[in-house]
Amino acid sequence: MNKQVISVQQLNKHFANNHALKNVGLSVEQGEMVALLGPSGSGKSTLLRHLNGLVCGDKTVNDKPSNGYIEVLGVPVQKNGKFCKTVRASRCQTGYIFQQFNLVTRLSVLQNVLIGGLNSTPLWRSLTGRFTLAQKQQAMNALERVGLADFATQRVSNLSGGQQQRVAIARALMQQAKIILADEPIASLDPESSRIVMDILSDINKKEGIAVVVTLHQVDYAVRYCPRVVALKKGEVFFDGPSEQLDEGTLAALYGSKVTPPQ
Ligand code: ADP
Ligand code: MG
Repeated sequence: MNKQVISVQQLNKHFANNHALKNVGLSVEQGEMVALLGPSGSGKSTLLRHLNGLVCGDKTVNDKPSNGYIEVLGVPVQKNGKFCKTVRASRCQTGYIFQQFNLVTRLSVLQNVLIGGLNSTPLWRSLTGRFTLAQKQQAMNALERVGLADFATQRVSNLSGGQQQRVAIARALMQQAKIILADEPIASLDPESSRIVMDILSDINKKEGIAVVVTLHQVDYAVRYCPRVVALKKGEVFFDGPSEQLDEGTLAALYGSKVTPPQ
């Protein structure tokens, strides 16, 4: 049996009177690639943020603490409405990819990738920006992997959106992530860049066995790239199963009649 890398049990989150996550349960095994679907506002981002301990412990959004148990990579992230400090251990091994890339645009591509290695860098070295040759080599390998080795010395702000997202993936590789959480990674990209980014995510999932949980608003990408789909509707898990089982009826019930199912 494969190792479980994410376990969420009975997760509930309220923002004031808004019950944003309702008794959510989720289990992801090592090596899985899971699409998280659902209409806008259904709780996808809130769930992903919980997996990285970004909500329960965040005072600014912590209207009421979330309830439920979350374990990632074998360590508790939150339990009994409390954020667990052990989340630091799982965060170090969790790459987070954002719709707007969240790179440091005034730094070079290589420097952005090196940031992924900060956790394994002694403090004095990271403060002086001195990375070892081995780390630089590792960062170059990560850039090679996403097809951007030739861009290493460029400023991030010179790159296209699709290229910036590939830098973010290289940063996760540099981090030696065991899990990648990607929140709408292709929502701002054109179809060609979307395909390249999804191909890379799929490739590292297959070759490195990195578990990927990716929120998507295009059902066809989910079906094409992700063997499993978890769909949220109004904060509840509405569907959890093989993507080929997403039939027209399920999609119509999930999105209303707005979305046409993939051909
Ligand atoms: P999705 O990613 O599926 O579009 P979200 O997780 O962003 O949905 O939001 C789920 C619900 O929680 C929405 O009703 C949203 O308005 C609410 N919500 C999310 N984040 C916050 C926040 N920081 N403060 C208040 N409400 C929030
Ligand atoms: Mg979202």
